[in-house]
Amino acid sequence: SRNPECPLDKDELGSRTWGFLHTMAAYYPENPSPQQKQDMKSFFDIFSRFYPCEVCAKDFQKEIQTQPPNVDSQKSLSKWLCDMHNIVNVKLGKKSFDCNRVNERWKDGWIDGSCD
Ligand code: FAD
Repeated sequence: SRNPECPLDKDELGSRTWGFLHTMAAYYPENPSPQQKQDMKSFFDIFSRFYPCEVCAKDFQKEIQTQPPNVDSQKSLSKWLCDMHNIVNVKLGKKSFDCNRVNERWKDGWIDGSCD
């Protein structure tokens, strides 16, 4: 495997960033304030302009224009982000993830107890 003290390549940056984004969505409030909703929209807007992979950022900007972040609740934001990630998965020929299980993956752990 690669030297972990070297700059991130596109795939490492991607998997670490998804880890951060899905975990942030997992801890977003179930009942966000108007300010929190606005802030989360701004976060993704700015994120999409600075994500340090040019093609990724360009496509992600287009996707969030057609399908803006659903900032109404923890569940809706996590579902939206899962859908966005699946768009990238399909584009790259990867398997689509079952978004009914996004909170098991990123918040609560799998129901079979394998993360306990
Ligand atoms: P990743 O796709 O990084 O996934 C990490 C883990 O997340 C998986 O192991 C799985 O457990 C879980 N997971 C998978 N799908 C979902 C889902 N839908 N919802 C929740 N959890 C899920 N790479 C490119 O080559 N071209 C691009 O245009 C591109 N655009 C990107 C845009 C963004 C915003 C980001 C963050 C990354 C982008 N990437 C892009 C990187 C790409 O998505 C992957 O991160 C990279 O290919 C490494 O893939 P991976 O197999 O390690 O798994």
